[in-house]
Amino acid sequence: MNRLWLVLPLAACTPKIPPSPSISQAPSAIDREALPEVVLRGAVVATTKMSRHLAAMGGEKTDERGPVHVFALQHPTEGLVLIDAGYGRRTAVDPFDHPGRLAAKLLDLEMGTPMADLLPDIGATDRDVSAVILTHLHDDHAAGVEDFPKAMLWADRADWRFADRPRLTRGIDPEPYQGRDFRHPTYSHGPWGPFERHTDLFGDGTVLLFPGPGHTPGSMLVLVNTPSHSWLFLGDAAWTDDGWKDGVHPKGYLPRNLIETDWREGTDVLYRVRTLIGRDDLTIVSGHEPANAERLPEWPTPW
Ligand SMILES: [Zn+2]
Repeated sequence: MNRLWLVLPLAACTPKIPPSPSISQAPSAIDREALPEVVLRGAVVATTKMSRHLAAMGGEKTDERGPVHVFALQHPTEGLVLIDAGYGRRTAVDPFDHPGRLAAKLLDLEMGTPMADLLPDIGATDRDVSAVILTHLHDDHAAGVEDFPKAMLWADRADWRFADRPRLTRGIDPEPYQGRDFRHPTYSHGPWGPFERHTDLFGDGTVLLFPGPGHTPGSMLVLVNTPSHSWLFLGDAAWTDDGWKDGVHPKGYLPRNLIETDWREGTDVLYRVRTLIGRDDLTIVSGHEPANAERLPEWPTPW
């Protein structure tokens, strides 16, 4: 009897996952010989507590560390472009200053070396960063932009509007990027693969942006095409591979209700991502998958 009373309300709370949208596949072959010689690298600049029951509905309670990534693309004409900025120098000095005592403790945040201080490894400095592409404007992806004073910031217009004031329970503190020069993709380049719209950021096929709202109103996916391989960065559309690998699994109860703006909308992009599974020229990278720390090449090795 007691058990039944426990199970009934839980079952009532398990929400229905929206069905897959109808997805058509537009041409998505990548002419690698036509691409300029870009070089991609990535670094883990921090780690936080990560449990699979929070990362995906139905996941187990685990005690793992999730990486906070920053990716760096050297482009022959566009210069040094970052994908996300992670936490920056301010957090390295004192996480209680930023993102603040409560967030740092809740996340069990452990800061490593911020990207601004890793760039000398590849002969660059913080002033060489020409652009930062932000998958979304949560602190763990955007706070580090304050270390790159010359960079143009790319973010979806909906996220930029959403992040115009602090929304601390939703992971938004705009102070590091307030007043900065932002540009917004228009996704006017039509369909690509399973996605209905995209922006070819530099017009040469190296960086494609796709809308992926749900985690935040303007979350973006970023596809980087190099002469040898392609990497699809999901941002936090999925924290771990559990979100998309074996079916579509939205995040656990607390994050999907407290942090995400529309988790049901967020399932749309996960269904689309799933159609790219098995493509051997493309790797899908979830935002904070613990296994990423081992399987992605270590900074500063080119990918
Ligand atoms: Zn994140």
